Amino acid sequence: MFNKILVANRGEIALRVIRAAREMGIRSVAVHSTADSDAMHVRMADESVCVGPPPSARSYLSIPSIIAACEITGAEAIHPGYGFLSENANFVQVIEDHGLTFIGPTAEHIRVMGDKITAKETMKKLGVPCVPGSEGGVPSLDDAKEIGEAIGYPVIIKATAGGGGKGMKVARSAKEMERAFMTARAEGQANFGNDEVYIEKYLTTPRHIEIQVFGDGRGRAVHLGERDCSLQRRHQKVFEEAPGPIITPEERARIGKVCADAMADIKYIGAGTIEFLYENGEFYFIEMNTRLQVEHPVTEAIFGVDLVREQIRVAAGMEMSFQQDDLKINGHAIEVRINAEKLPNFSPCPGRITQYHAPGGLGVRMDSALYDGYRIPPYYDSLIGKLIVHGRDRPEALARLNRALGELIVDGVDTTVPLFHALLQEKDIHTGDYNIHWLEKWLEANL
Ligand code: ADP
Repeated sequence: MFNKILVANRGEIALRVIRAAREMGIRSVAVHSTADSDAMHVRMADESVCVGPPPSARSYLSIPSIIAACEITGAEAIHPGYGFLSENANFVQVIEDHGLTFIGPTAEHIRVMGDKITAKETMKKLGVPCVPGSEGGVPSLDDAKEIGEAIGYPVIIKATAGGGGKGMKVARSAKEMERAFMTARAEGQANFGNDEVYIEKYLTTPRHIEIQVFGDGRGRAVHLGERDCSLQRRHQKVFEEAPGPIITPEERARIGKVCADAMADIKYIGAGTIEFLYENGEFYFIEMNTRLQVEHPVTEAIFGVDLVREQIRVAAGMEMSFQQDDLKINGHAIEVRINAEKLPNFSPCPGRITQYHAPGGLGVRMDSALYDGYRIPPYYDSLIGKLIVHGRDRPEALARLNRALGELIVDGVDTTVPLFHALLQEKDIHTGDYNIHWLEKWLEANL
């Protein structure tokens, strides 16, 4: 096992990794920008290294600085968290070239799944069902129009390098195609330096269901059921739960096995998430994320496992500590993402926290790097905490969420907490009757 690992991230996810490491008796190194000198991850780690100025491109994304921090401190492995360098194949290559270990999948798996066209082709070959659409990239507007006619409108044009909800445009008719096609390409180029796009049938009432997978890199892989992340704003998740309110044990076993087998087949190592749209009893693959996801704690809650610990174990060459038959679902878990944002526009709201009190009690987990007097810097994303609740069943989890939100105090900045208070008043949230468009419609009508 490693003696010391470096965490190439900040905020709540850096704390998450430091905590797992400490429980395993591993020392942790935090890296930080000058804007984060007094951040909680710096305080909590055993050691810390400043890796650059506030802009992420010159600190949290600076590969040479992070490698140097590793060498200075003698850390043997790097955990990337999510975002930043977590899905950067080049980073993994550089880490390996320096004789260090990346706590995550291989550069090759990141490369294949990071390009959505290649990912879809690969998954199709592995027997995973996909959304109907173009065969590979769509080079011209004429091709796009032809494909639109062939698969039938509405369609969605997606940048192959896209992520974070960027580079996706819906065309509801041939007339809308030109604009959607051009915009998706331009967003792909501007955000990811790649203007290649592909086209999919736009599903009108799906749920977002994703399967958590885990592999040992030697051909053994398991699934840890699904998460339902259908409540989204601008294709970004805000409320996630496990298990999915409408997925049956048979469906879970079937799609879970397809995913686990596919991962065993490619000898995947570590944690991964295979994302699907689910409509009329069918699953359609949309993309795979080769990292730990923001919403991983709901899976941890219902299976009673520590996914970060497992990531570290397999990266060190150890066996996974569970097999498929050991993984049994216990109860229901919900996570809400608490962002420093001002409603109704969700505009970022950095600033000083004048008072912070985390909720507690049975079945409540608050993952956050906030503290009294902390100043949220304006340079990074607006997620300031994740409230995760676990109950014996969904109604208990919802009641617990309501109770815990009532205890939470975050003063000094605006947050998305009022949104969750309002959502808990909605019948559809309690019945679980919603799809990926529900929240956008609700926001339009209520905010
Ligand atoms: P990103 O990598 O930017 O997160 P995804 O491919 O994972 O993009 O899609 C994000 C979200 O966009 C999905 O959860 C879903 O809400 C919506 N979406 C993606 N593809 C489709 C589709 N074919 N039909 C309808 N909605 C889609």
